[in-house]
Amino acid sequence: MVLAKLENYINGTFQAPSSQNYIESYNPAIGKAFLGWSTTKRSLRSEIMLKIAHLIEEKLEDFAVAESRDQGKPIKLAREVDIPRAVYNFKFFATYILHLESKATEIDGIATNYVQRTPVGVAALISPWNLPLYLLTWKIAPAIAYGCTCVCKPSEFTSHTAYLLCKVMSQAGLPAGVVNMVFGNGVNAGEALVNHPNVDVVSFTGGTLTGSRIASNCAPKFKKVSLELGGKNANIIFADCNFEEAVNTTVRSSFSNQGEICLCGSRIFVEESIYEKFIESFIEKTKKLKVGDPSDASTNLGAIVSKEHLEKIQFYVDLAKQEGGKIVHGGERITVSCKSFINGKETDETTNGWYFSPTIITGLSPSHRVCQEEIFGPVVTVVPFKTEEEVLEYANGTEYGLSSSVWSENGRKAKRIAEKLQVGTVWINCWMIRDLNMPFGGVKASGLGREGSAYSLEFFSEEKTICMAN
Ligand code: NAD
Repeated sequence: MVLAKLENYINGTFQAPSSQNYIESYNPAIGKAFLGWSTTKRSLRSEIMLKIAHLIEEKLEDFAVAESRDQGKPIKLAREVDIPRAVYNFKFFATYILHLESKATEIDGIATNYVQRTPVGVAALISPWNLPLYLLTWKIAPAIAYGCTCVCKPSEFTSHTAYLLCKVMSQAGLPAGVVNMVFGNGVNAGEALVNHPNVDVVSFTGGTLTGSRIASNCAPKFKKVSLELGGKNANIIFADCNFEEAVNTTVRSSFSNQGEICLCGSRIFVEESIYEKFIESFIEKTKKLKVGDPSDASTNLGAIVSKEHLEKIQFYVDLAKQEGGKIVHGGERITVSCKSFINGKETDETTNGWYFSPTIITGLSPSHRVCQEEIFGPVVTVVPFKTEEEVLEYANGTEYGLSSSVWSENGRKAKRIAEKLQVGTVWINCWMIRDLNMPFGGVKASGLGREGSAYSLEFFSEEKTICMAN
């Protein structure tokens, strides 16, 4: 495994992990780095961040290969989505901070008020395995742009690109200690980080149960916390949609990255009058997807991230079968042979990895466990509906509230539905188009807080009102 070779990136140098208590090794550096970094000019921070972006861009292929090997995602996705978005995260916040404004108000000639904004302090940034560099940089970029220093903990399943990022940050001249990286699992490294007294703010993306644990650890210490959690997103497809576009995008939103994207639509609701036609076309297009070796540029679905995760996916498919669900496509582990990589080196050995066919299930009620619990794999359920009221009840009838998509050529109807959906983001006639200025986050069990330009600024800084007599 590559993971065993990774060294923590502490105060600008790489250090071999010596104990389970990662916190102790970087603690002395953090305070010093924060005092320095928080007072640097925004223009300097911006310059360094742009250098980081350019260096990742230069090494895009190395990053993409590492991401694909670590996570199992198709190389094409890593090349075209994950790594370019990591580059863009740095560019976006590097330039955003150059244009910040603040207002002052005067009260009847007596006094002037203004707001001073200061970075919160040391941020713990904890990320999941599905979009490793994409999501980690979505936290690092705003944190350092706004003057915080951070200690990051990428997922223990996918740490490789975070390691490469440390090298790039060092090369770009980011001062030592501004971004620190600890590698380890959640129970040890993650929890120690969240509970550390020198950590002021925690930004977490991952599962809902973990989020709840982090929230309860942060609460007694009044640490600011941002939680981006799980989802069970609804795609609502009305009969008056652009049918081809709706089906094509639904195939993408169901199975991209093997369904391992928090924004994938896993509950598909289709208006009764086009239900049969939809199922037929959806199956036909899904059949064309190639599940294969992630390093093959023509692969659409790569490998599932781990054996445990594959077993979880299989469990839900078996449950659906036992309880009357009909597997109309897929539903099983499949054999794909591919070269194995040991300690980062290709071996001659060919092994059968953890692949699962894109799976479509019908015949379950929207309240069934398979339609309610997050599977986070290439598995979707399709359920018919008759009225707007009915589909809203289905879509909102889950503990989650991350995102949703609505398909209709009737703009008023789509807007009416979008405004009643209990989620953080609704896409109308599209999916996963992201403007980083928009607030991103979930409601209910999908999270707490919003991230994005001004929203991340709120999170990583504190405001102080200063009232000065004239
Ligand atoms: P996870 O919760 O198991 O792990 C996420 C991270 O938290 C990892 O780095 C892990 O080591 C760490 N961690 C685990 N226990 C911890 C603890 N007690 N204290 C501190 N850190 C701890 O999630 P995962 O399996 O890596 O990721 C999949 C989940 O992430 C899915 O539920 C998915 O929906 C969610 N996700 C959400 C978003 C979003 O933006 N809302 C984006 C991507 C993924």
